[in-house]
Amino acid sequence: MTKVQNTSTKDDEVIAAIPMACSDESAAAEFLEKQRWGEHPACPHCGDLDVYKMKSLTGERQTNYRWRCHGCKQQFTVRVGTVFEESRIPLRHWCYAFWRASTSKKGVSALEIKRQTGLSYKSSLFLLNRIRFAMQETAPEMLAGDVEVDEVFIGGAPRHYNNSRKTKARRKSIVVGMVQRGGDVRPKIVADVTGASLKAVIRENVERSSRVMTDEWSGYRGLHKEFEGGHETVRHSTHEYARGDVHTNSIEGFFGMLRRGLDGIYHSVSHEHLHRYLAEFQFRHNNRFLSDGQRTLAAIRSANHKRLTYKDCKVSI
Ligand SMILES: [Zn+2]
Repeated sequence: MTKVQNTSTKDDEVIAAIPMACSDESAAAEFLEKQRWGEHPACPHCGDLDVYKMKSLTGERQTNYRWRCHGCKQQFTVRVGTVFEESRIPLRHWCYAFWRASTSKKGVSALEIKRQTGLSYKSSLFLLNRIRFAMQETAPEMLAGDVEVDEVFIGGAPRHYNNSRKTKARRKSIVVGMVQRGGDVRPKIVADVTGASLKAVIRENVERSSRVMTDEWSGYRGLHKEFEGGHETVRHSTHEYARGDVHTNSIEGFFGMLRRGLDGIYHSVSHEHLHRYLAEFQFRHNNRFLSDGQRTLAAIRSANHKRLTYKDCKVSI
């Protein structure tokens, strides 16, 4: 399932257009239109291909970049039916934020988007939230092969530090990370670190034929009965971090990046919003074999058709 994609010449041409699309509104509109419709723009209302760009009296393209459909006579723009809909934020700023969010390893803050675009902080936050929403994987495949599982506690430090996972769990959000070696990562928020919660999330995301690797936490006990490839553990308590190919380095690497991003770039992320940030880090990890330009295109393309299912960010700018 390792994602290595060949760069097509067509993609290269599109990628070369990204810097311009980040600074010029008309270039941004053309760029996004090409991404969305290719050579055959279609009416998002009725699907008709008989559409045309609306021109001003002087024959120039209208600055609101509207199209009109001969079929249903309705007007539309490239925003209709995407995460860009219902926002008047200039398209070039969307392109810029997509590019930064797709290529900055630890993420990009709303403050940085504000500084670079001149948008308000609120608009910058709105834009990044919608990009994270676009990055969410839809119907991902089950992880398989060698799968590492570990959990991490995210959030403010507990008042009385205690190394017990149960104590930490009370004040922090808990994320279980599952990663297929050489493949995708799947971080999931769970309520607690009991065997029941951990096993439920592992079952939902990992194929039964897999070989599962964890540390020696008691919540993972019994996994060998459920996974045909077996269950291997490393004993962190005795400073054992690898035994042959048995280790959890890949998932720990992902968590390290997540922590550096959440602490360094985003400072604090509430439990309520954490799933969106996880989607962003997951997207970058799962598309890590792509070039920066290809990854940006993948994110922009994932913005299509997301509008209809978008429920949890009602703020309109
Ligand atoms: Zn139409």
